[in-house]
Amino acid sequence: MLGLMQNQPLMISSLIEFAQRHHADAQIVSRRVEGDIHRYTYREAADRSRQVANALDAMGLAFSDRVATLAWNGYRHFELYYGVSGSGRVVHTINPRLHPDQIAWIANHAEDRVLCFDMSFLPLVQAVHARCPTIRQYVALCDADKLPEGSGIPNLISYEAWIGGQSTRYDWPVFDENSASSMCYTSGTTGNPKAALYSHRSTTLHAYAAALPDVMSLSARDAVLPVVPMFHVNAWGIPYSACLTGAKLVFPGPALDGKSIYELIEAEKVTYAAGVPTVWQMLLGHMKPANLTFSTLKRTVIGGSACPPAMIAAFNDDYGVEVLHAWGMTEMSPLGTLCTLKNKHDALSAEDKMKIRLKQGRAIFGVDMKIVSDAGDELPWDGKTFGNLLVKGPWIVREYYKGEGGDPLVDGWFPTGDVATIDADGYMQITDRSKDVIKSGGEWISSIDVENIAVAHPAVAMAACVGMPHPKWDERPIVAVVKKPGAEVSREELLKFYEGKTAKWQIPDDVVFVDAIPLGATGKMLKTRLREMLKDYTLPGL
Ligand code: AMP
Repeated sequence: MLGLMQNQPLMISSLIEFAQRHHADAQIVSRRVEGDIHRYTYREAADRSRQVANALDAMGLAFSDRVATLAWNGYRHFELYYGVSGSGRVVHTINPRLHPDQIAWIANHAEDRVLCFDMSFLPLVQAVHARCPTIRQYVALCDADKLPEGSGIPNLISYEAWIGGQSTRYDWPVFDENSASSMCYTSGTTGNPKAALYSHRSTTLHAYAAALPDVMSLSARDAVLPVVPMFHVNAWGIPYSACLTGAKLVFPGPALDGKSIYELIEAEKVTYAAGVPTVWQMLLGHMKPANLTFSTLKRTVIGGSACPPAMIAAFNDDYGVEVLHAWGMTEMSPLGTLCTLKNKHDALSAEDKMKIRLKQGRAIFGVDMKIVSDAGDELPWDGKTFGNLLVKGPWIVREYYKGEGGDPLVDGWFPTGDVATIDADGYMQITDRSKDVIKSGGEWISSIDVENIAVAHPAVAMAACVGMPHPKWDERPIVAVVKKPGAEVSREELLKFYEGKTAKWQIPDDVVFVDAIPLGATGKMLKTRLREMLKDYTLPGL
């Protein structure tokens, strides 16, 4: 017997329709590429999303055609999210930090038909357009009078001219909820990038889950600042969850430096922010010397890389801001786990609470996870045993776009490439990417643990731990360190700093001071590049 409830497909367009109907006057504030602040409401955003949909129809774009973006977080990008997906096309967000060759490769692989770009990326588009034969229309995200002359880009129109003549009325189509809605290429540190292709169903379910109290806990009373980019995994789904809750949205545009972010948080009374550790490091670096405080910020979600304890402590103890450590990946839309404490943890000491907060957290309903040995055997949830982390759920990839890389699943589970522990309460802790784990004398050393201790030292700005070949132990850890400007610390002092904080055999064998640690397009440390930089290095005493 079937249930007798209405069968209504989950459509992304329903999110913006809901926001317009129930939160029409809630604000969307954006810092624009021009530097000024733009301000409007969900009502106007919804109207303009429908103009986008009409503009795409007017071009005769087919169902599922790809519309690419090279854009910062801002209101026009937001309108594209809804206008493109809502009308049945696929938003392809391209990471502008990738190399132009990779961008051209991706645009061709996705067979993009339209490319919408912020003016900051004009030189990038000029560099790649001749190599992108599938793109029929270029749209510069600017006013009609700001369109550059003599850019050399064919079929170029300003966004405002493109949508300006279109009606704000549009009947959003209803179709199979499993249809593709957006796509994002993984950063592809090895080989060509592969695309995760999200659907209306996966995106809507993820938006519901992300808003839950033990996840992002978003509500109409929040003003949320996604510093995490809309060009990478849909800004962790915040542009969708915000519509579902009616939260005020604050977009930072291209200004991600500490001063600009701080000013935006204060001016727009942001209660909630989300971003990767490097961005927050810049913010804290700006605030501390100037003795600044937050007047409204209550919570911040930090993920994308492990959040160092020093950062959790600074937000919590110095500024009264709760840090929610999160983990996920492009292939997971991206949210997998989020760390919030349970009532039973209330009585714990500050130190023990910190131990839990450092974990990446508990699975969100919709994400199943397990850890397995290299042989595939499931490992215990004891908080100690390391294993390969596998996940499954309705917003996790089944396969990559165009079947690239073959079948990624193992008995229906997606191998994340991360190594983790899970404790008896289900709190998962990432110890490494599987290729970064350090295998020393048959034991595994977590590079994240080694890095966390280094960055807790007041003179250290950034640290990256890699394993170096060792004849007796296979590998031994060393830590590459970037000092804070004007700060001093010696190799010996730093090695001494490890004593008592970790087991003796987990203390790195050496400290190498470097000017910078190479970062990838999504702000993660590029250990492959670091290893190349250190190719002539030998461990002390060898
Ligand atoms: P991406 O697909 O580019 O978003 O990268 C996903 C990968 O980032 C994950 O598989 C993890 O290795 C890493 N990652 C994401 N969040 C965290 C976190 N909170 N702690 C440690 N690593 C993380």
